[in-house]
Amino acid sequence: MGTGRDVAERGAVDGMPVDGEHLALDLVNTTFIRGGLRGHLVDVLVEPADLAAWVERHGEGLDPASAPPGELGPAELAAFLELRRALRAVLTAVVAGGPAADADVAVVNGALRAAPGWAELPPGAVGRAVPRSLAGERGRVLLARVAQAAVELLTGERRDSVKACPAPGCILFFLQQHARRAWCSTSCGTRVRVARHSRRHAEE
Ligand SMILES: [Zn+2]
Repeated sequence: MGTGRDVAERGAVDGMPVDGEHLALDLVNTTFIRGGLRGHLVDVLVEPADLAAWVERHGEGLDPASAPPGELGPAELAAFLELRRALRAVLTAVVAGGPAADADVAVVNGALRAAPGWAELPPGAVGRAVPRSLAGERGRVLLARVAQAAVELLTGERRDSVKACPAPGCILFFLQQHARRAWCSTSCGTRVRVARHSRRHAEE
């Protein structure tokens, strides 16, 4: 099962089965399998316009309004897809308990170095932190914010809460906020239960 774009169907940015988990996971989850084990790969980031729509949808974590203006074109899309590929590889290694490959870690860190950012105290120290960055390019700044979110997630206390959905044919990641959550979504849980049920009936 590959995640190459050439074999994927283009999906809608507002039709992701799992979204709003965490900025870094949300980027990785822009590819998913529709239809379970015999399903097909769907990618919601195929055209530059898809990236712009994804960015707007993740306003709270990305804060695109505070990023410098600029185009999100084919080059920016390619950079996001490269970060997505690297993050999927890193997450896969992390949930398997092994170290991630140096090359994948380097992609995440490279995105950060390309647009160093920080969060400042707001005037009077009242209100939310004000995001700033050295780079003046919108794509780089937004990319670095996703990479920063990934670093904070994977080096913080929520690292152990990152889970890969165990449903057969599912490639999504989620944050396990409570121990009872076993699947990325209720549809994966239902699919597994239905499969178990029909297997039991077939054996009887
Ligand atoms: Zn799932």
